[in-house]
Amino acid sequence: MSEKPENAPEHCPGTESEDAGKSSACQGCPNQNICSSAKPKGPDPDLAVIQERLSSVKHKILVLSGKGGVGKSTVTSMLARGLALDDNLQVGILDVDICGPSIPRVMGLEGEQVHQSGSGWSPVYVEDNLGVMSAGFLLSSPDDAIIWRGPKKNGLIKQFLRDVDWEDTNYLVIDTPPGTSDEHLSVVQYLQHAVIDGAVIVTTPQEVSLMDVRKEINFCKKVKLPIIGVIENMSGFICPSCKNESQIFPPTTGGAEKMAEDMKVPFLGKLPLDPRIGKCCDEGTSFFEEFPDSPAVTSYQQIIKDIPDNLLFGNQTKDLLHMYLTFIPLFTKSFFTSTIFKGYSSG
Ligand code: SF4
Repeated sequence: MSEKPENAPEHCPGTESEDAGKSSACQGCPNQNICSSAKPKGPDPDLAVIQERLSSVKHKILVLSGKGGVGKSTVTSMLARGLALDDNLQVGILDVDICGPSIPRVMGLEGEQVHQSGSGWSPVYVEDNLGVMSAGFLLSSPDDAIIWRGPKKNGLIKQFLRDVDWEDTNYLVIDTPPGTSDEHLSVVQYLQHAVIDGAVIVTTPQEVSLMDVRKEINFCKKVKLPIIGVIENMSGFICPSCKNESQIFPPTTGGAEKMAEDMKVPFLGKLPLDPRIGKCCDEGTSFFEEFPDSPAVTSYQQIIKDIPDNLLFGNQTKDLLHMYLTFIPLFTKSFFTSTIFKGYSSG
Protein backbone atom coordinates (compact mmCIF):
# COMPACT_ATOMS: atom_id res chain seq x y z
CA MET A 1 0.00 0.00 0.00
CA SER A 2 1.64 3.29 -1.08
CA GLU A 3 1.05 6.02 1.48
CA LYS A 4 0.82 9.73 0.79
CA PRO A 5 1.17 11.77 4.00
CA GLU A 6 -1.27 14.62 4.48
CA ASN A 7 1.49 17.21 4.29
CA ALA A 8 2.93 15.78 1.04
CA PRO A 9 2.76 17.80 -2.20
CA GLU A 10 0.14 16.96 -4.82
CA HIS A 11 2.42 14.83 -7.01
CA CYS A 12 3.92 12.77 -4.17
CA PRO A 13 4.91 9.38 -5.64
CA GLY A 14 4.01 7.63 -2.36
CA THR A 15 6.29 6.82 0.55
CA GLU A 16 6.57 3.17 -0.49
CA SER A 17 7.50 3.92 -4.10
CA GLU A 18 10.98 3.48 -5.54
CA ASP A 19 11.09 7.25 -6.15
CA ALA A 20 10.18 8.23 -2.58
CA GLY A 21 12.34 11.16 -1.54
CA LYS A 22 14.00 11.34 -4.97
CA SER A 23 11.40 12.50 -7.47
CA SER A 24 11.02 16.13 -8.52
CA ALA A 25 7.84 16.34 -6.44
CA CYS A 26 9.92 15.54 -3.33
CA GLN A 27 12.04 18.67 -3.67
CA GLY A 28 11.11 20.91 -0.75
CA CYS A 29 8.76 18.33 0.81
CA PRO A 30 9.10 18.35 4.63
CA ASN A 31 9.36 14.53 4.58
CA GLN A 32 12.19 14.28 2.07
CA ASN A 33 14.88 13.32 4.59
CA ILE A 34 12.76 10.51 6.06
CA CYS A 35 11.64 9.18 2.68
CA SER A 36 15.09 9.22 1.08
CA SER A 37 16.73 7.52 4.06
CA ALA A 38 14.08 4.82 4.46
CA LYS A 39 15.20 1.23 4.23
CA PRO A 40 15.52 -0.29 0.74
CA LYS A 41 12.11 -0.88 -0.81
CA GLY A 42 10.82 -4.29 -1.67
CA PRO A 43 8.16 -6.70 -0.57
CA ASP A 44 8.25 -7.68 3.10
CA PRO A 45 9.44 -11.33 3.10
CA ASP A 46 7.07 -12.06 6.01
CA LEU A 47 4.07 -11.45 3.74
CA ALA A 48 4.79 -14.67 1.86
CA VAL A 49 5.21 -16.53 5.17
CA ILE A 50 1.86 -15.16 6.42
CA GLN A 51 0.22 -16.12 3.15
CA GLU A 52 1.54 -19.67 3.43
CA ARG A 53 0.65 -19.95 7.12
CA LEU A 54 -2.95 -18.79 6.57
CA SER A 55 -3.49 -20.81 3.41
CA SER A 56 -5.16 -23.48 5.58
CA VAL A 57 -7.67 -20.92 6.92
CA LYS A 58 -10.57 -20.82 4.51
CA HIS A 59 -12.35 -17.63 5.60
CA LYS A 60 -10.86 -14.65 7.42
CA ILE A 61 -13.31 -12.11 8.81
CA LEU A 62 -12.37 -8.84 10.53
CA VAL A 63 -14.78 -7.48 13.12
CA LEU A 64 -14.63 -3.67 13.24
CA SER A 65 -16.44 -0.91 15.09
CA GLY A 66 -16.31 2.83 14.70
CA LYS A 67 -16.23 3.40 18.45
CA GLY A 68 -15.69 1.49 21.67
CA GLY A 69 -18.57 0.23 23.80
CA VAL A 70 -20.77 -1.07 20.99
CA GLY A 71 -20.18 -4.72 21.89
CA LYS A 72 -17.62 -5.61 19.21
CA SER A 73 -15.78 -8.24 21.26
CA THR A 74 -19.09 -9.69 22.44
CA VAL A 75 -20.28 -9.96 18.84
CA THR A 76 -16.92 -11.50 17.81
CA SER A 77 -17.20 -14.14 20.52
CA MET A 78 -20.85 -14.85 19.80
CA LEU A 79 -20.25 -15.19 16.04
CA ALA A 80 -17.40 -17.61 16.70
CA ARG A 81 -19.33 -19.60 19.30
CA GLY A 82 -22.37 -19.68 16.98
CA LEU A 83 -20.31 -20.90 14.02
CA ALA A 84 -18.64 -23.53 16.23
CA LEU A 85 -22.04 -25.00 17.14
CA ASP A 86 -21.63 -26.82 13.85
CA ASP A 87 -19.26 -29.68 14.74
CA ASN A 88 -18.17 -29.89 11.13
CA LEU A 89 -16.60 -26.43 11.28
CA GLN A 90 -13.25 -25.51 12.80
CA VAL A 91 -13.34 -21.94 14.11
CA GLY A 92 -10.70 -19.57 15.48
CA ILE A 93 -10.72 -16.16 17.17
CA LEU A 94 -7.69 -13.91 16.82
CA ASP A 95 -7.80 -10.97 19.24
CA VAL A 96 -5.61 -8.14 17.93
CA ASP A 97 -7.08 -5.54 20.27
CA ILE A 98 -3.59 -5.24 21.73
CA CYS A 99 -4.32 -2.57 24.33
CA GLY A 100 -7.71 -3.91 25.45
CA PRO A 101 -7.80 -7.67 24.87
CA SER A 102 -11.13 -8.82 26.34
CA ILE A 103 -11.55 -12.08 24.41
CA PRO A 104 -9.82 -14.27 27.06
CA ARG A 105 -12.39 -13.08 29.62
CA VAL A 106 -15.49 -13.53 27.45
CA MET A 107 -14.32 -16.95 26.30
CA GLY A 108 -13.55 -18.12 29.86
CA LEU A 109 -9.81 -18.36 29.20
CA GLU A 110 -8.35 -15.85 31.66
CA GLY A 111 -5.00 -16.95 33.04
CA GLU A 112 -4.22 -19.18 30.04
CA GLN A 113 -0.78 -18.93 28.45
CA VAL A 114 0.38 -19.26 24.85
CA HIS A 115 1.88 -22.69 24.18
CA GLN A 116 4.64 -23.23 21.68
CA SER A 117 4.94 -26.33 19.55
CA GLY A 118 7.23 -27.35 16.72
CA SER A 119 4.80 -25.81 14.23
CA GLY A 120 4.38 -22.45 15.99
CA TRP A 121 2.15 -20.93 18.67
CA SER A 122 -0.84 -23.11 19.51
CA PRO A 123 -4.24 -21.48 20.01
CA VAL A 124 -5.94 -22.05 23.37
CA TYR A 125 -9.00 -24.26 22.80
CA VAL A 126 -12.42 -23.54 24.33
CA GLU A 127 -13.98 -26.48 22.51
CA ASP A 128 -12.39 -29.07 20.24
CA ASN A 129 -13.39 -26.94 17.24
CA LEU A 130 -12.95 -23.45 18.72
CA GLY A 131 -9.46 -22.03 19.30
CA VAL A 132 -8.41 -18.58 20.53
CA MET A 133 -5.25 -16.48 20.33
CA SER A 134 -5.06 -13.16 22.14
CA ALA A 135 -2.56 -10.58 23.35
CA GLY A 136 -4.23 -11.15 26.72
CA PHE A 137 -2.46 -14.53 26.98
CA LEU A 138 0.87 -12.69 27.08
CA LEU A 139 -0.03 -10.71 30.21
CA SER A 140 0.84 -12.01 33.65
CA SER A 141 -2.35 -10.46 35.09
CA PRO A 142 -5.59 -9.32 33.40
CA ASP A 143 -5.11 -5.93 35.06
CA ASP A 144 -1.70 -5.39 33.43
CA ALA A 145 -1.61 -2.66 30.79
CA ILE A 146 0.10 -3.04 27.44
CA ILE A 147 1.63 0.35 26.71
CA TRP A 148 3.21 -0.10 23.33
CA ARG A 149 3.85 2.25 20.44
CA GLY A 150 2.97 1.48 16.81
CA PRO A 151 5.99 -0.57 15.63
CA LYS A 152 5.85 -2.93 18.61
CA LYS A 153 2.09 -3.42 18.26
CA ASN A 154 2.51 -4.07 14.54
CA GLY A 155 5.27 -6.56 15.31
CA LEU A 156 2.98 -8.54 17.61
CA ILE A 157 0.16 -8.54 15.06
CA LYS A 158 2.57 -9.81 12.45
CA GLN A 159 3.77 -12.51 14.83
CA PHE A 160 0.17 -13.60 15.50
CA LEU A 161 -0.52 -13.88 11.77
CA ARG A 162 2.81 -15.51 10.97
CA ASP A 163 3.40 -17.87 13.89
CA VAL A 164 0.03 -19.19 15.10
CA ASP A 165 -0.69 -22.68 13.87
CA TRP A 166 -4.43 -22.67 13.07
CA GLU A 167 -4.22 -26.00 11.24
CA ASP A 168 -7.26 -26.46 8.97
CA THR A 169 -9.70 -23.77 9.99
CA ASN A 170 -12.97 -22.84 8.28
CA TYR A 171 -13.47 -19.44 9.89
CA LEU A 172 -10.97 -17.14 11.58
CA VAL A 173 -12.81 -14.24 13.24
CA ILE A 174 -10.43 -11.37 14.01
CA ASP A 175 -11.34 -8.93 16.79
CA THR A 176 -9.77 -5.50 16.25
CA PRO A 177 -9.57 -2.35 18.39
CA PRO A 178 -12.24 0.33 17.87
CA GLY A 179 -11.69 3.00 15.24
CA THR A 180 -9.24 3.04 12.35
CA SER A 181 -5.81 2.73 13.86
CA ASP A 182 -2.36 1.32 13.14
CA GLU A 183 -3.59 -2.14 14.06
CA HIS A 184 -6.24 -2.12 11.30
CA LEU A 185 -3.79 -0.95 8.68
CA SER A 186 -1.31 -3.63 9.76
CA VAL A 187 -3.86 -6.45 9.65
CA VAL A 188 -5.15 -5.38 6.24
CA GLN A 189 -1.63 -4.93 4.90
CA TYR A 190 -0.39 -8.28 6.21
CA LEU A 191 -3.50 -10.12 5.07
CA GLN A 192 -3.78 -8.58 1.63
CA HIS A 193 -1.82 -11.48 0.12
CA ALA A 194 -3.56 -14.10 2.26
CA VAL A 195 -7.02 -13.22 0.88
CA ILE A 196 -9.23 -11.71 3.55
CA ASP A 197 -12.96 -12.16 3.03
CA GLY A 198 -13.82 -8.78 4.47
CA ALA A 199 -15.13 -6.90 7.47
CA VAL A 200 -18.20 -7.18 9.63
CA ILE A 201 -18.90 -3.75 11.14
CA VAL A 202 -20.67 -3.51 14.49
CA THR A 203 -22.62 -0.45 15.59
CA THR A 204 -25.41 0.59 17.92
CA PRO A 205 -28.54 2.32 16.54
CA GLN A 206 -27.93 5.90 17.62
CA GLU A 207 -26.44 8.57 15.35
CA VAL A 208 -23.39 9.17 17.55
CA SER A 209 -22.27 5.62 16.77
CA LEU A 210 -23.34 5.66 13.11
CA MET A 211 -21.23 8.77 12.49
CA ASP A 212 -18.11 6.75 13.28
CA VAL A 213 -19.32 3.75 11.30
CA ARG A 214 -19.53 5.88 8.16
CA LYS A 215 -15.83 6.70 8.71
CA GLU A 216 -15.09 3.00 9.20
CA ILE A 217 -16.86 2.16 5.94
CA ASN A 218 -14.87 4.83 4.12
CA PHE A 219 -11.69 3.41 5.68
CA CYS A 220 -12.59 -0.04 4.30
CA LYS A 221 -13.24 1.43 0.87
CA LYS A 222 -9.92 3.31 0.96
CA VAL A 223 -7.86 0.23 1.84
CA LYS A 224 -9.97 -1.95 -0.50
CA LEU A 225 -11.23 -4.15 2.31
CA PRO A 226 -14.55 -5.75 1.24
CA ILE A 227 -17.47 -5.12 3.61
CA ILE A 228 -19.35 -8.30 4.46
CA GLY A 229 -22.01 -6.26 6.22
CA VAL A 230 -23.13 -4.13 9.15
CA ILE A 231 -24.66 -5.50 12.36
CA GLU A 232 -26.82 -3.31 14.59
CA ASN A 233 -26.12 -4.38 18.17
CA MET A 234 -28.16 -3.37 21.25
CA SER A 235 -31.09 -2.88 18.91
CA GLY A 236 -34.00 -2.74 21.34
CA PHE A 237 -34.37 -4.52 24.65
CA ILE A 238 -36.61 -7.55 24.98
CA CYS A 239 -37.50 -8.21 28.61
CA PRO A 240 -36.56 -11.83 29.43
CA SER A 241 -39.68 -12.12 31.64
CA CYS A 242 -42.54 -10.35 29.86
CA LYS A 243 -40.98 -10.33 26.32
CA ASN A 244 -42.00 -6.66 25.86
CA GLU A 245 -39.61 -4.68 23.64
CA SER A 246 -38.35 -1.17 24.42
CA GLN A 247 -35.77 1.06 22.70
CA ILE A 248 -32.80 1.86 24.93
CA PHE A 249 -30.81 3.54 22.13
CA PRO A 250 -33.42 5.05 19.79
CA PRO A 251 -32.44 5.03 16.10
CA THR A 252 -33.06 8.76 15.67
CA THR A 253 -31.69 8.86 12.11
CA GLY A 254 -33.07 5.54 10.93
CA GLY A 255 -30.49 3.24 12.53
CA ALA A 256 -27.87 1.02 10.93
CA GLU A 257 -30.20 -0.44 8.30
CA LYS A 258 -30.85 2.96 6.74
CA MET A 259 -27.18 3.95 7.06
CA ALA A 260 -26.16 0.71 5.29
CA GLU A 261 -28.68 1.39 2.53
CA ASP A 262 -27.38 4.97 2.14
CA MET A 263 -23.74 3.80 2.08
CA LYS A 264 -24.61 0.88 -0.25
CA VAL A 265 -23.22 -1.85 1.99
CA PRO A 266 -25.04 -5.05 3.08
CA PHE A 267 -27.00 -5.02 6.32
CA LEU A 268 -26.66 -8.31 8.21
CA GLY A 269 -29.27 -7.81 10.92
CA LYS A 270 -30.22 -6.48 14.36
CA LEU A 271 -29.23 -7.97 17.71
CA PRO A 272 -31.45 -7.14 20.69
CA LEU A 273 -30.03 -6.28 24.10
CA ASP A 274 -30.23 -9.10 26.60
CA PRO A 275 -28.56 -8.42 29.97
CA ARG A 276 -27.83 -12.14 30.26
CA ILE A 277 -25.31 -11.82 27.38
CA GLY A 278 -23.20 -9.51 29.58
CA LYS A 279 -23.45 -11.99 32.44
CA CYS A 280 -22.30 -14.88 30.23
CA CYS A 281 -19.39 -12.76 28.90
CA ASP A 282 -18.31 -11.87 32.44
CA GLU A 283 -18.46 -15.53 33.43
CA GLY A 284 -16.90 -16.79 30.17
CA THR A 285 -19.81 -19.12 29.44
CA SER A 286 -21.68 -19.75 26.20
CA PHE A 287 -24.89 -17.74 25.86
CA PHE A 288 -26.06 -20.18 23.18
CA GLU A 289 -25.94 -23.05 25.66
CA GLU A 290 -27.18 -21.13 28.71
CA PHE A 291 -30.13 -19.33 27.13
CA PRO A 292 -31.03 -21.05 23.85
CA ASP A 293 -34.57 -19.57 23.95
CA SER A 294 -33.40 -15.92 24.01
CA PRO A 295 -34.53 -13.78 21.05
CA ALA A 296 -30.87 -12.71 20.76
CA VAL A 297 -29.89 -16.32 19.99
CA THR A 298 -32.44 -16.41 17.16
CA SER A 299 -31.04 -13.14 15.76
CA TYR A 300 -27.44 -14.40 15.97
CA GLN A 301 -28.39 -17.67 14.30
CA GLN A 302 -30.02 -15.82 11.41
CA ILE A 303 -26.93 -13.63 10.90
CA ILE A 304 -24.59 -16.63 11.14
CA LYS A 305 -26.77 -18.56 8.67
CA ASP A 306 -26.46 -15.67 6.18
CA ILE A 307 -22.70 -15.18 6.56
CA PRO A 308 -21.62 -17.84 3.99
CA ASP A 309 -23.91 -16.20 1.38
CA ASN A 310 -22.47 -12.80 2.17
CA LEU A 311 -18.94 -14.16 1.84
CA LEU A 312 -19.65 -15.85 -1.47
CA PHE A 313 -21.73 -12.99 -2.79
CA GLY A 314 -19.89 -10.00 -1.34
CA ASN A 315 -20.35 -6.53 -2.77
CA GLN A 316 -18.05 -6.90 -5.73
CA THR A 317 -19.48 -10.24 -6.80
CA LYS A 318 -23.02 -8.93 -6.41
CA ASP A 319 -22.15 -5.91 -8.57
CA LEU A 320 -20.52 -8.17 -11.14
CA LEU A 321 -23.54 -10.45 -11.29
CA HIS A 322 -25.90 -7.49 -11.49
CA MET A 323 -23.94 -6.06 -14.40
CA TYR A 324 -23.84 -9.42 -16.09
CA LEU A 325 -27.57 -10.04 -15.73
CA THR A 326 -28.38 -6.52 -16.89
CA PHE A 327 -26.02 -5.94 -19.75
CA ILE A 328 -24.57 -9.12 -21.17
CA PRO A 329 -26.58 -10.38 -24.13
CA LEU A 330 -28.38 -13.67 -23.60
CA PHE A 331 -26.17 -15.78 -25.83
CA THR A 332 -23.06 -15.06 -23.77
CA LYS A 333 -24.66 -15.83 -20.38
CA SER A 334 -23.81 -19.51 -20.28
CA PHE A 335 -20.13 -18.74 -20.94
CA PHE A 336 -19.89 -16.13 -18.16
CA THR A 337 -21.89 -18.26 -15.72
CA SER A 338 -19.54 -21.19 -16.09
CA THR A 339 -16.49 -18.89 -15.76
CA ILE A 340 -17.70 -17.11 -12.60
CA PHE A 341 -18.91 -20.19 -10.76
CA LYS A 342 -15.93 -22.29 -11.82
CA GLY A 343 -13.76 -19.60 -10.18
CA TYR A 344 -15.73 -19.73 -6.93
CA SER A 345 -16.07 -23.47 -6.73
CA SER A 346 -12.31 -23.85 -6.99
CA GLY A 347 -11.66 -21.03 -4.44
S1 SF4 B 1 9.44 13.20 0.15
FE1 SF4 B 1 8.45 12.60 -1.75
S2 SF4 B 1 7.64 10.57 -1.33
FE2 SF4 B 1 8.10 11.47 0.63
S3 SF4 B 1 6.17 12.38 1.28
FE3 SF4 B 1 7.35 14.00 0.26
S4 SF4 B 1 6.68 13.93 -1.87
FE4 SF4 B 1 5.99 12.02 -0.91
